Amino acid sequence: MNKETTYTACESCLMPFYKDPGVRDSEKYCSYCFKNGKFCYEGNDLKEFQKIAYNGMRGIGVNTLKAKFFTWLIRFAPRWKK
Ligand SMILES: [Zn+2]
Repeated sequence: MNKETTYTACESCLMPFYKDPGVRDSEKYCSYCFKNGKFCYEGNDLKEFQKIAYNGMRGIGVNTLKAKFFTWLIRFAPRWKK
């Protein structure tokens, strides 16, 4: 696996790491998804996670259209691949 292409975005929400304002705990996941050694959302439900991510993005001022688009993209993240 190519490290550079594999770890440039969060494997849970696909947010590019350069946009992550926090300190990452994991080299695979952003600071929103993974904190203190565990996932902030530990469930297995993509829809539920998307809801949380959407509200999170809206909470930091991402506009509706962008938030919807990024939320839709989450289904392609490695974490949610079946
Ligand atoms: Zn993430």
